[in-house]
Amino acid sequence: MNDTIGNSTTVRTRIAPSPTGFLHLGTARTALYSWAYARHFGGQFVLRIEDTDVARSTQDSVQQILESMHWLGLTYDEGPIYQMQRLERYHAVVAQMIAAGTAYRCYCTPEELDAMREAQRARGEKTRYDGRWRPAPGKVLPPVPAGVQPVVRFANPEHGVVTWDDLVKGPISISNQEIDDLIILRPAPEGAPAGTLGVPTYNFAVVVDDWDMRITHVFRGDEHINNTPWQINIFRALGAPLPQFGHCPIILGDDGLKLSKRRGAVSVTAYQEAGYLPEAMLNYLARLGWSHGDTELFTVDQMVQWFDGTHLAKSPAQWDPAKLAWVNAHYIKQADDTRLAGLVQQQLASRGVQAADLDMLTRAATLFKDRCSTVVELADWTEMLFVPVAAGAEDLQTHVTDAVKPALRTLRDGLAEAPWDKAGIAAAMKAALAAHQLKMPQLAPAVRVLVCGRAQTPSVDAVLALFARETVLQRLQSV
Ligand code: GLU
Repeated sequence: MNDTIGNSTTVRTRIAPSPTGFLHLGTARTALYSWAYARHFGGQFVLRIEDTDVARSTQDSVQQILESMHWLGLTYDEGPIYQMQRLERYHAVVAQMIAAGTAYRCYCTPEELDAMREAQRARGEKTRYDGRWRPAPGKVLPPVPAGVQPVVRFANPEHGVVTWDDLVKGPISISNQEIDDLIILRPAPEGAPAGTLGVPTYNFAVVVDDWDMRITHVFRGDEHINNTPWQINIFRALGAPLPQFGHCPIILGDDGLKLSKRRGAVSVTAYQEAGYLPEAMLNYLARLGWSHGDTELFTVDQMVQWFDGTHLAKSPAQWDPAKLAWVNAHYIKQADDTRLAGLVQQQLASRGVQAADLDMLTRAATLFKDRCSTVVELADWTEMLFVPVAAGAEDLQTHVTDAVKPALRTLRDGLAEAPWDKAGIAAAMKAALAAHQLKMPQLAPAVRVLVCGRAQTPSVDAVLALFARETVLQRLQSV
C-alpha cells in the first residue's frame, strides 16, 4: 500500500523532545537532521514538546530545550506545541476510534495484568496483553467491574506484517504477531478533580500530532524502531497518510557503550558551558552519522545544501571528544574576535571575574585563539589580564634568578617610558638585554612568570602589550 505522503507534498519535519531533562546530544542531532532536511527542500520544521510524562516533565527542562535550540540556531517555523495543551484533541480521536472499533476500553486491574504475565511466563510464552477486553463478533466480554477506570487500548491488527522503507536503515518488517494491543489512553489519576482528562501514551499522541501537523518525514533515534509498527498501524486505523521514517543509530561514548550521563556530558548545555561554539557542535553532530564525501569541516549553509536524507550512517557513531575539540578549534580560529571577546567576558563573569574592557578582550582573543580549542581555554589565557597572578615557587626559582633581576629592573624603568605597543615594548626589552649582556631566553621567561604567572606564552612583547602599562609595572615591582 503506497500511502506515504513523503514524496508528494511540502516537506514538514519536526523534533519532539520530552522535557524531562536537557536537550540530549542525540536529540540535538536528529533535530539538526530534521531541520536541515526541511531547509534543504524549502519545507517547514516544527518543534513539539512531548510533555505527557507529567511526573517527569518540568518547565525548567522546557526552558533549557528552547535555549539549546536557539543557541544552535535550529529555528522552527511552528511551535513550541505542547501535547498537554492538546488533550481534548486526543480524546476526540480516541472517541472516534472506539466508535470505529479500532480502539476499546480495557478494565483490567494492575493485579490482573500481573497475573496474566505470570501465567504466560509459567507457560514459557512471551508476555503480552491477551486481548480479553478486545471486542470481536460473537465474543462475550467480561462484566464491567464497578469502580475501575478503564484504559483505552488500540486494536492492533492480529495478522500481517508492518513494513516500511526506513530512510536510514532501509526496509524493515515486523510481524503484527510480535506486538500486542497497546494502551493509548490512561484515565485521570484517582482523586483528580472531576472533568480531568486522562493522558495519552507516547505512541498514540505522536501519531495524532504527526498527522495533525502534516509531518512528512520523521527522523528520530533508533530506540523508537520498535514503536514504529504500532504507530504505522494507528496511522492506518485513522486513515491518515504515513510520514517516512528515518531511525538514526545511537551515539556511543568513547568507551563504545551508549553515550550516557554516567559517562560524561550528554547535553547541549554542557558543551555550551564548556566553551564550544554552536557552529562547531552543528558540524560535529552532522558528521556523527552523516557524510558528504570525506568533508569534515563545512558550514551549516553547506550542510543544508547537501543534506537530502541520503548518506546517513546505518551503524552507531562514536563520540570523539578529541575530534570535537579539533572541530571547535577550527571554528574558534575562524570566529570574529569581538564575538570571542563577548564569550570570554561571559565565561570570566561566571568565574566572578569582571572584565569590562572589550577592546582588551578582543586583542587577547586575536593573540591567543590559535592555541585554544574552547572558549574556556581562551578565558584561561585571558584571565591574567584582569586578576592578580600567583607564580609558582618553582617557576620563580628557575626563572627569576639573581642574574636576571637587575635586567628586570632596567626593563621596568624602560617600560615606564616606552611607547605602549608591541614595538615599543620590544625595544625596551632589547635595551635591557644589551645593558646586562643577557639573551632573550633568560629575560623573557622571567617577565612571563612575574606578569603572566606562567613561563610560557606567545611572544612576550605581544603579550605585555595586551595589559595596561600600570599592571605590568606593578607586577615587575617585586624585583
Ligand atoms: N518524545 C520522544 C523522544 O524524546 C520523541 C520521539 C519521536 O521523535 O517520535 O524520544
